[in-house]
Amino acid sequence: MCGISGIAGFKNIAVPLLDSIRHLEYRGYDACGIAILGLHGIEVRKNIGSVDEVNERERLSEPDGKLGIAHTRWATHGGVTKENTHPHLSCKGDFALVHNGIISNYRELKKELIKEGHKFYSETDTEVIVHLVEKYFAPSKDTEKAFIKAIKRLEGTYAVAMITIYEKDKIFCAKKESPLVIGLGGDTNYIGSDFNAFIDYTKNAVVLDDDEYAVVSKDRYFIKNTTNGETVRKKITEIHWDSDMAKKGGYPHYMLKEIYEQPQCIINASQVDRQHIKKISDMIMESKKTYLIGVGTTYYVSLMGEYQFSSVAGIFTPAISSDEFKNLAHIDKDTLVIAISQSGETYDTLNALKYAKNKGAKTAAIVNVMGSSIARLVDLTILQGSGPEICVISTKAALSQMIILLMIALEIAVRNKRLASKNKIEIERHISNLPEIIQKVLNEKSGFIHTIAQKYSHINNWLYLGRGKYYPIALESSLKMKEVAYVHAEGMPAGFLKHGTIALIDENLYSIIFMPPKSDEDLYRLSSGSAEEIKARKGFIIGFHFGDKKESEKLFNEEIALPTVPDVIAPFLELVVAQLFAYFTAVALKRNIDKPRSLAKSVTVA
Ligand code: GLU
Repeated sequence: MCGISGIAGFKNIAVPLLDSIRHLEYRGYDACGIAILGLHGIEVRKNIGSVDEVNERERLSEPDGKLGIAHTRWATHGGVTKENTHPHLSCKGDFALVHNGIISNYRELKKELIKEGHKFYSETDTEVIVHLVEKYFAPSKDTEKAFIKAIKRLEGTYAVAMITIYEKDKIFCAKKESPLVIGLGGDTNYIGSDFNAFIDYTKNAVVLDDDEYAVVSKDRYFIKNTTNGETVRKKITEIHWDSDMAKKGGYPHYMLKEIYEQPQCIINASQVDRQHIKKISDMIMESKKTYLIGVGTTYYVSLMGEYQFSSVAGIFTPAISSDEFKNLAHIDKDTLVIAISQSGETYDTLNALKYAKNKGAKTAAIVNVMGSSIARLVDLTILQGSGPEICVISTKAALSQMIILLMIALEIAVRNKRLASKNKIEIERHISNLPEIIQKVLNEKSGFIHTIAQKYSHINNWLYLGRGKYYPIALESSLKMKEVAYVHAEGMPAGFLKHGTIALIDENLYSIIFMPPKSDEDLYRLSSGSAEEIKARKGFIIGFHFGDKKESEKLFNEEIALPTVPDVIAPFLELVVAQLFAYFTAVALKRNIDKPRSLAKSVTVA
């Protein structure tokens, strides 16, 4: 997930290389390192900790050399250790490589390479790449050819940069679904995960697209298509960022940046280790009962999981807010508790897990931070790979967790014979289309959502309504509104409305209703009925819906119409829209968006 940089220059580059990873620190990381090509080969210096801590211990700015690569690592495969820190070396030390992303077929590749005599020094997925290059270099002695051959073997996501003793002025890099840019400085060229890596040295950059590779020297570079080897000509982008914006990757707030990172996060979530999905499914099937726990947003994620497990997998797995866990749960050795936590440090959830463990329960967790307290405590951890979430309010981490829970529900559904394997594949295909759909909605609708949010930013009270899976979405969306805009928003099941709350409704009460697609006929009909009830009492409604305009005009005062999508991914799309709605409301109200009052990223107190 985190940062890559590289410099090909005409004088010693260690100091600017060190600065370049300092500028990538905002991306979050737990270890860092550099590789510099000097007179006596490649020198690697690396360790765990912050750039300043590692520099103090390893003196990163010392090695002489005019070519180098650097990395900040956010561990996904293998613990936070010096050995697992990048750069990684080939067996002979003649190639050094850094990587962001996840190589999903690394197990097979590692097996193959070990059989052929390669020696591995880390537990990372990354290390297979450098050994693959070494393998393909041996017969041909052609670095570019070997690099491409290795890249073509990779499945998953990657931005890769490599140097070698055989090409003293070249950085080899390639990308697929992880960002990589080249900075053009005249007599010195750069590479980076984003412009920040070299923004102090040049404002001219070229952005690499998926399935492209580049060879970058100090005064030259070329880009080719990885599949057909054809040269790709690209326009040079001029960067107009102030330094604060630069830190946030060009976005005014981390919250917006993280909302926009969701397509990538879904890709990462759907590539979590299959073995882990199978293992947690085994654990669920072997247990007499399973509880899903979380608190705040992760409670709503758990509730979404409860709906998915019930409707897709046919099992009832109650969601309990971690702070209420002891008051509700009945634990014995046949109980499984699955915790959801972004930071892996949430006190209430940690406490509930310890309580459950003491009573003999099995435990598992979906977390975003490797090595966190929850990750260390439970029997099985699924690392969601969403990358650091810096805004205090969770957006991308929550959506990724929902996707992972759905994948587990699908696995169980096949085992329960509620779903044929071919239908599971079909649903997985829908999930794999979701990133592109979200991207399109973000690109095409955010201006409109901005306008609507601004228009209604004076409203002090909202009702957020949804039925079925749209109920947890209503709850989570209302929490976003409360957290970031300090505006009261009450989430509830749309069917619950008529049993009391309806007394509030008049022309001064504003509601948002999360409609399902029309293909979900019963739910659509019932949700429309709830909208009618509000309308009959002159309440104001914004409809998030997938229908056509004509029909919606009759139901809603204002609408956010979304492209029709299969039912299984529809709630996620509405969640993204609701996050944006809360964000733009907060912008209009001039709130402290990334650090709202009274909130902390990981609540580590009771
Ligand atoms: N999957 C790699 C690792 O765990 C790269 C992580 C990153 O993107 O920083 O080492």
